[in-house]
Amino acid sequence: VIAPHNDDEVLGAGGAIQRHLRRGDPVSVVLLTNGDGQYRGPRLSRRRAVRLGYLRQEETLRALSALGLPERCVYFLGYPDRGLARLWSRHWPYENPYRAPQTGATRSPYENSFTPGAPYCGEALTQDLMEILRRERPHIIYLPHPCDTHPDHRSACAFTLYALQTLKEGQDEPSLALDGQVQLLGYLIHFEPWPLTQGRGMHKELRPPRPLIQASGTRWRSLPLTPEEVKRKKRALLCHRSQMRMLRPYLLSFVRRNELFEERSFELARVLFPFSTTTTPRILR
Ligand SMILES: [Zn+2]
Repeated sequence: VIAPHNDDEVLGAGGAIQRHLRRGDPVSVVLLTNGDGQYRGPRLSRRRAVRLGYLRQEETLRALSALGLPERCVYFLGYPDRGLARLWSRHWPYENPYRAPQTGATRSPYENSFTPGAPYCGEALTQDLMEILRRERPHIIYLPHPCDTHPDHRSACAFTLYALQTLKEGQDEPSLALDGQVQLLGYLIHFEPWPLTQGRGMHKELRPPRPLIQASGTRWRSLPLTPEEVKRKKRALLCHRSQMRMLRPYLLSFVRRNELFEERSFELARVLFPFSTTTTPRILR
């Protein structure tokens, strides 16, 4: 599971994670940022932003533990919240790192980053993802949907596709024919005011937003959750207390009797992303 921010792992795939664990599948979760960009609320000092990042890591570990996933299956990469699109489009090479306004850092200030002191650039993030893919050799990747309206989410999708593609084309490791055997399932988080527009309540069904049903070439899959899985997903989400304080109704509107994944738009995303992640994907026009 690829998650741009702490809480996306539960919002998007909290039910699917439980289902895989129950089946005995190995699961790992990759957090690209530590959510240190504070979505709403007062601006934090640089030191407090890093403290918030560590706090959100703890919240993620607690949430995933509630779903049955141990700490050793979680990767924290430590890249800057709300900065992933910049890494993708403007700060690619190691010589040109991005300075995160929240923390003032040009490399990860988090001691537990997958690559200690990871430079804030696109190339470093891609290398981290490739290394994790080599280690984990996933059969299924849950990742942000390419039409998510949050630039971090679209960029997380772009980075993942690029890392897969690069591995596939790598001449050095022909045995790692990852792509093609890997099923990509996109989860959607930001398409506000969706899903609040579909009412609230754990018994409600989550349906795709209309523009994304009509978009050509999309195929949505619904994963029906058992009442126990829904309850656990809610319990896990409540572990993200720092976010609950500000966004509770919105976040809880993702706790429903099913989860949604889309599997067709990635071919299109491959064509779109080399150019930009900051404009609306063409699939929506
Ligand atoms: Zn997010």
